[in-house]
Amino acid sequence: MPATKRALFIDWGGTLVLTQNNRTVIDADGDPVLMANVAATLGRERPRYDLSFIVSNQARISAGEIAEVEVLRRFAWAHDRLGRPFTGWRLCPHTDADGCDCRKPRPGMFLELARLHDVSLGASTHVGDSDKDREAAAAAGVGTFVWARDFFGWA
Ligand SMILES: [Zn+2]
Repeated sequence: MPATKRALFIDWGGTLVLTQNNRTVIDADGDPVLMANVAATLGRERPRYDLSFIVSNQARISAGEIAEVEVLRRFAWAHDRLGRPFTGWRLCPHTDADGCDCRKPRPGMFLELARLHDVSLGASTHVGDSDKDREAAAAAGVGTFVWARDFFGWA
């Protein structure tokens, strides 16, 4: 049986939430700051897909600068704040030096999610803000890449 489900894969930093110097900006409560139009756009676009996942490089975990549990708490916070649009999420905690298969621009996170969730990668979309996102989507065979500024209408 060929995979059939269409997925919307979304990057985290610089796409869903504001970053500065490659770190997620947090507010006075310690929570991330959503980028403009994220809630409204996801509300409109998410129903066009069967599944949706956050896929995020998080090399600061390996660097000891943030705990994985805190990154996961932030993902869960955004999930709740946005009306629970996500099927799940994957992060890569490694640095370039680790040579893993999951750090974008490598396709590992996409391939694993596709295998686990019956995703047709060619019928799916990745939204991101960097060349690493675009290259990872291409390497995984994700059919469509959309720049975050276009997807969310930042102009
Ligand atoms: Zn990795």
